This record gives sequence, C-alpha cells and structure tokens, in this order.
Amino acid sequence: MPTISLQGQVALVTGASSGIGTGVAKALGDAGATVVVNYSRSAKGAEATVAEIKAAGGEAIAIQADVSQEDQVIRMFQQIFDTYGTIDILINNAGLQKDSPFPDMTLEDWNTVIGINLTGQFLCAREAVKEFIRRGVVLERSCAAGKIICISSVHEVIPWAGHCNYAASKGGVMLLMKSMAQELAPYKIRINSIGPGAIKTPINRNAWETAEAEAKLLRLIPYNRVGEAEDIGKATVWLASDESDYVHGVTLFVDGGMTLYPEFAHGG
Ligand code: NAD
Repeated sequence: MPTISLQGQVALVTGASSGIGTGVAKALGDAGATVVVNYSRSAKGAEATVAEIKAAGGEAIAIQADVSQEDQVIRMFQQIFDTYGTIDILINNAGLQKDSPFPDMTLEDWNTVIGINLTGQFLCAREAVKEFIRRGVVLERSCAAGKIICISSVHEVIPWAGHCNYAASKGGVMLLMKSMAQELAPYKIRINSIGPGAIKTPINRNAWETAEAEAKLLRLIPYNRVGEAEDIGKATVWLASDESDYVHGVTLFVDGGMTLYPEFAHGG
C-alpha cells in the first residue's frame, strides 16, 4: 500500500485544541496537509497543536471561531482563503456534551449541544462546499473537488440514556452527512463520517481515568482496548485521501466493535 500523501492540500479541523481534533490535525500534518487548527476558547491548546505540527516539519495556523456562530464561521473561512487561497478538506470535529436525566434537561443545554454539534457542522460544511463548487476539481491536488469528514459518534445509532441532546445531535449529523453526500456528489464533493467509539479524551475522562471505570467501559468494547486519538487520525487521513475515492456517504465506525451489540456475544 502506498504511503498516503495529502501534500499541497489545505485542511481545516474544527475543535482541534484538544482530544480527537488534535490527533486528527497532527495526522493530517504528518501526511503533508497544511492544517488550520480551529479553536473556540483554548488558544493555548491550539497553539500547542500548531507547534507540534510545525516541529514535525508541517505547516499550520490556529484560527479562533465558535462554530455555532454563523458570522464567526464565515470570518474563519475568509481568513483561510486570505492565507492559503482555498480549502480541500474539512474535518467537522468540534463537539461537546451537556448531560442530564431527560426530565431535568434544560432548553439551554439542549440548544447548546445541537448548536455546536449539529448546526456547527452545517455552517462549516456550507462554507466549505461553496468554495469546493467555485474551485472544482484540480487534479494536482485531488481527484475530488473537496472532502468533508463529519466526526459523528457510535451514538448516531446507539441510543444513549442521560444524553438525549448529544444522541439527537449525532443522529442529526448522520442524515445531514448522507443528505449532503447525495446532493453534492455530482460536484465530485466526497462526504463521509467517522463514528468514534470510546476514545481517551477530555470529553469522557470519567469513563476511563480510574481502573474500575476503564474495566466497566471495556465490557462494551469487544476489541478490549479503549481507543486513542491516533486511531481516529489514521482513519481520517485515509478517508480524506484519494485512496478512498469511491467511499461516499457512509459512516466509518472506529470503535473496537462497540456497535456490534457486545451484550449479545454470549447468546443475549
Ligand atoms: P474534546 O472535548 O477534547 O474536544 C472537543 C473540542 O471541541 C474541544 O477542543 C473544544 O474546545 C471544541 N469546541 C467545543 N465547542 C466549540 C465551539 N463552539 N466551536 C469550536 N470548537 C468547539 O473531546 P473529543 O472527544 O476530542 O471530541 C471531539 C469530537 O469527537 C466531538 O464531536 C465528540 O462528540 C466526538 N466523539 C468523541 C468520542 C470520545 O470517546 N472521545 C466518541 C464519539 C464521538
């Protein structure tokens, strides 16, 4: 298998100041892409990601924008165009949880999660798609006019009590991704999702940071290890590259088998 190269392509990773976003940004940088590291609040985390990419010989900048705010997203894309001229790859990664039992869930927490996890993906995808259509295919860059990878979750298909807003946002991402993929394929814009299982990041620290918590979590993972941001980074590089050119409109679950209903492994 050839080494995957994203040389000459510009990639935006939203929410790349920590966790999966950082892992993905570094993997794209290692593959030769110029990386735009978006962050909302943590300039320090974003600058650290940029520094790591540059230390490995890559090119990167950090741009602040809250992905749930239309004006900030438009401004971020303008900054990308002013700096690098265009964009080739969007990784819609920014997301968060605001968990609570359903009867106690506030409208504010519902709106915050939908606003960032779902509307944020729509806003970034729309700006990227406008540019992909304007520029079209440039074969020296890629055989697609652009690639979008939505970071979804196993919870786009697994219901999740106590996390109704989060599961609804990821279920929404699934049909946003598929509908965009159906509509935009004629422009040679390739759109897919990655559905991570349990990955060790700040979002789910309480699920893996003690030995007891990790043992409980592993009961849900047939492959018997908790994932790392690098697992998502490697899958993202492949899905963003021409190596996956005929893959379109699917969710690639990177979850150690979490979506295989492990409770039924011994007859249910
Ligand atoms: P994380 O908390 O480390 O990363 C989320 C990032 O999004 C943070 O850098 C945060 O600052 C950023 N962010 C939050 N609101 C933002 C906004 N309004 N604008 C821009 N950036 C914003 O957690 P993570 O696990 O790395 O999560 C990344 C993505 O992966 C999320 O979409 C999450 O739902 C998804 N995911 C994670 C797991 C897991 O097990 N860690 C599993 C499935 C899906």
